[in-house]
Amino acid sequence: MSVTKPFPESVLISESCLQNRIRELGTQIFTDYENQELVLLGVLRGSVLFFADLARAIFKAQHESQTREVTLRFEFVQLVSYHDSTQPSTVQLIRGGSDYLKQRHVLIVEDIVDTGRTLNFLCEHLQTLNPKTVKVCTLLDKPSQRQVSVAVDYIGFEIPDTFVVGYGLDYAQQYRNLPYIAVLESI
Ligand code: 5GP
Ligand code: MG
Ligand code: MG
Repeated sequence: MSVTKPFPESVLISESCLQNRIRELGTQIFTDYENQELVLLGVLRGSVLFFADLARAIFKAQHESQTREVTLRFEFVQLVSYHDSTQPSTVQLIRGGSDYLKQRHVLIVEDIVDTGRTLNFLCEHLQTLNPKTVKVCTLLDKPSQRQVSVAVDYIGFEIPDTFVVGYGLDYAQQYRNLPYIAVLESI
């Protein structure tokens, strides 16, 4: 098995650019949920780096405000998509999404919304668990690829129709630990 990365990468969104935007998102989310309890629901595995930085950005906003707070809880779900060239992909929940979310404010934390099928499936599934509210925060959005209409409340960056890796996103399970978003050359 190869241990080298298959393609060289070029930076699309730098580390400082990511961190600045995540700081802004954290402040916005903090303001919107102040004095409430919020479940951050991370979608494994791609969102983990974003999730961790966003959670800290929400805390920093709280620290600066001094008087207000948001109580954060962490939950995770894992979804898989099955691709078949003749059909739209089918999404399945393989982990998480328990009754725990009942009557809670839930914020889904996603790495990227592409066709919208994954998020659409997850939102429909969550409705069966009777949360108080469900909103969505995605680091990246590729609106040009949308097949299913989904409401996204917080967007880090809109990107063009290009395959990206890094900061949680993989190509064949590699590149997830890059601290920036990159485009693979010659993919
Ligand atoms: P959707 O269901 O919206 O089409 O796709 C969502 C999932 O597809 C993402 O969570 C991610 O796993 C994968 N995906 C979509 N676009 C990209 C991309 O540009 N790079 C990577 N690494 N994964 C992507
Ligand atoms: Mg994802
Ligand atoms: Mg992947």
